[in-house]
Amino acid sequence: MKKYQMFVNGKWVDAKSGKTMKVMDPGNEEIVAEVPAADVEDVREAIKAARNAFDSGVWTRLEQKKRSEMMLKVVDGLIAKQTEIAELESRSSGATIRKASMIDTPLAVEHFRYFAELAYKKDLFEPLPWINFPSVSWNFVVREPIGVAGQIIPWNFPLLMAVWKIAPAIAAGNCVILKPASYTPLTALELAKIIEEAGIPAGVVNVVTGAGGVVGEELASNPLIDKVAITGSTSVGSRVMELASKTVKKVTLELGGKSANIILSDAVLDEAVDGALFGTFLHAGQVCESGTRLLVDEKIYDKFMDKLIARAKGIKVGYQMDYETTMGPVVSAKQRETVEGYIQAGLDEKAKLVLGGKRPANMKKGFYVEPTIFTDVDNKMKIAQEEIFGPVLSVIRFKTADEAIKIANDSMYGLAGGVWSSDIPHAIEVAKAIRTGTVWINDYHLLNAIAPFGGYKQSGVGRELGTFGFDEYTQIKHIHVAVAPRKAKFWYDLVLD
Ligand code: NAD
Ligand code: MN
Repeated sequence: MKKYQMFVNGKWVDAKSGKTMKVMDPGNEEIVAEVPAADVEDVREAIKAARNAFDSGVWTRLEQKKRSEMMLKVVDGLIAKQTEIAELESRSSGATIRKASMIDTPLAVEHFRYFAELAYKKDLFEPLPWINFPSVSWNFVVREPIGVAGQIIPWNFPLLMAVWKIAPAIAAGNCVILKPASYTPLTALELAKIIEEAGIPAGVVNVVTGAGGVVGEELASNPLIDKVAITGSTSVGSRVMELASKTVKKVTLELGGKSANIILSDAVLDEAVDGALFGTFLHAGQVCESGTRLLVDEKIYDKFMDKLIARAKGIKVGYQMDYETTMGPVVSAKQRETVEGYIQAGLDEKAKLVLGGKRPANMKKGFYVEPTIFTDVDNKMKIAQEEIFGPVLSVIRFKTADEAIKIANDSMYGLAGGVWSSDIPHAIEVAKAIRTGTVWINDYHLLNAIAPFGGYKQSGVGRELGTFGFDEYTQIKHIHVAVAPRKAKFWYDLVLD
């Protein structure tokens, strides 16, 4: 078993108490590693380190090009360790090795690279139009870093989420304390090692491992922190926002979802079938934007569902590090219980179970759940309203596109959604009517470094990725320069003469 330390002020340290937490392989229940379980005093030390680093200007006052160069070294470091990191990610989080090596790690590289380049390319000065009232002046805005950011991430995409938090923040000149999810801290610690090797100054990036109720709450409350960003559930996000409000911290919240994937009658059925399955069962459904409410037009319903169920039977559930596996376990015993509770709720509310619903008989160890499909779901049911975060699809029938839009929007969430149609102008109209931060047309899940991601309604506040995500780590200062001759001496006269 490997022993990890956490990264505070450029040093690798244990928790002061000596306490540790174990990291388990959810596919076979073996212990993979041990990491420190930080207490409040450990977090405070990291916060102080970030504060000092920020206030000293060691990072913030560095020229943009220099920051960019150091960040690009992190990209090189990630590339050099790609295979190792993908394996560690797969083993410790339950991500299939296919996903970890083809999606998680390459995207982590690309997204880090995007922000490394933006650190240099982004123009931090923006001119305003000429102002001549009430006096003639030259005005511009400067984008400045917010300061010290506390960042809290979930267990579903441990490396990618660490990149989404750290990269834009430091690109904009902030200093950070990252708290990985308790189940999946390892790849964030590997990333910290690469950041250290890239020469980024001590204290700029700190990674503190520990419980959400301890480390997370301190990050959300500590007055030395200027901004807190969390990706997680809506209930925890709301708690973080509440704690952050005491000292009026800026917040970015990326929270839960219950996205609708709408299959219109003119969709290319085979593509839509695969898109619907990819949209739901990728990472055993543990993706915030998963299209777990599948809305199908009644005109094509029977044909579509026959194809969908037949294709779903081809999903190969197995150990995540086996290359043949297309769906691995969920992250923990607790998560499996939650998912099973929802499957029971579906049965209780008389939805029709047409596939799965059980633990696969051949997997004796690990937290597996069969790909599960419910039909005859009413949008009022629990399995249509609540985020399950497991491999469970709720299928709802509709008659018209307007009805589909209504059902899609009948949700407290507003993260994402999909529309499948061969009539693109119409699909765009539908996409615009859906109240979510992202809508894919004839696709699902695909994220790009330049495209903003985030939620409407209770799915969150703010955006990640793109210049939008960068801007969330800046605040704008207006600078006004009086230009002589001063036309409005008059204003000063109000108090002076
Ligand atoms: P979670 O809310 O349980 O935990 C998220 C993080 O918050 C973890 O690091 C956890 O330790 C920490 N935390 C827990 N309690 C805390 C507290 N009181 N104060 C501060 N921090 C605390 O979420 P999870 O179970 O790790 O992940 C699943 C959830 O994350 C789902 O709801 C999913 O939709 C959401 N998610 C959202 C996005 C997005 O971009 N919108 C992406 C991935 C996951
Ligand atoms: Mn949780």
